[in-house]
Amino acid sequence: MQKKVPMRMCVGCREMKPKRELVRVAANSAGEVAVDPTGKAPGRGAYICRSAECLKRAVKSRALERALTKSIDKAVFDALEKSVSELDKQDGEAL
Ligand SMILES: [Zn+2]
Repeated sequence: MQKKVPMRMCVGCREMKPKRELVRVAANSAGEVAVDPTGKAPGRGAYICRSAECLKRAVKSRALERALTKSIDKAVFDALEKSVSELDKQDGEAL
């Protein structure tokens, strides 16, 4: 299976993953940070696995804040947590 898949790095585990397996968090030009379910919102983006584990790590290490160089509202993490738990169907993360 050698398809050309865009790869992005998860801010939680720092592994490169196909973009579509990740959730994008984007900061728009107004500096507002939000979960970007389409993956197409303009602005700076950071990616995270659809894994509660990676989200936890990213929160702990403030990796998202650093990646976006913005402070991030708790509401964003709540939304992320929701999309992660909804989407976390293949829990194939072997660590
Ligand atoms: Zn990850």
